Amino acid sequence: MSAVSENYKAVLGKITDSAIKSGRSPSDISLVAVSKTFPVEKIREAFEAGARIFGENYIQEAVKKVETLNEKVSWHFIGHLQSNKAKYAVGKFDLIESVDSLKLCTEIDRQASLKGIAQDILLEVNISGEESKYGFTAESLPENISEISKLGNIKVKGLMTIPPFSENPEDSRQYYSSLRDLINNLNSRKIRGIEMTELSMGMSSDYEVAIEEGATMVRVGTLIFGGRT
Ligand SMILES: *Cc1c(COP(=O)(O)O)cnc(C)c1O
Repeated sequence: MSAVSENYKAVLGKITDSAIKSGRSPSDISLVAVSKTFPVEKIREAFEAGARIFGENYIQEAVKKVETLNEKVSWHFIGHLQSNKAKYAVGKFDLIESVDSLKLCTEIDRQASLKGIAQDILLEVNISGEESKYGFTAESLPENISEISKLGNIKVKGLMTIPPFSENPEDSRQYYSSLRDLINNLNSRKIRGIEMTELSMGMSSDYEVAIEEGATMVRVGTLIFGGRT
């Protein structure tokens, strides 16, 4: 077995353990294998081990990989997307997880409408309020989401966040529990067309904490593919 396939299976095992430990069903949690910077051969190794969802950050690199890999997989876009690049992502990715502004929502909707499709997205939330981070603030989201709900060619499946970097996974817990509170709050408003079920949170350093706090998708790169240069 290759290192990648061993790593992938080890992470899956830990996801199962964390789910059971927190009284959840392992099948409610998807593992997004974050393959940014790694070649398609490595993606194939993960595919052999059972991986079917891959996350990419850089649009040019991502589009090339999507077009190269013949295996039937689901692609998620997880990087910052400039509005003028939205046209390359719409229809190519099953889920655009990193939709961080109303402007980007509007452009994705426009491109999806030109292609005659509905694009699934997650709204990225800057839950910590760090200056350096992209995303809607928790405060601005209720108002923005009403606007977004009027866009007919995007479907908001849930929320995504990236917490401040920390060596200690416990530091992420407060942010993940805040994101869970936020999705519950927004869902309870019963905004027409908005029924969010996905919480994308947790990376190599803290995915177990994220699962304990209700993640339905974890995005793991380093633990599967190794360190990035
Ligand atoms: C790179 C990246 C990940 C994966 O990070 P690892 O620490 O390598 O697991 C997850 N989410 C986003 C948005 C990323 O950019």
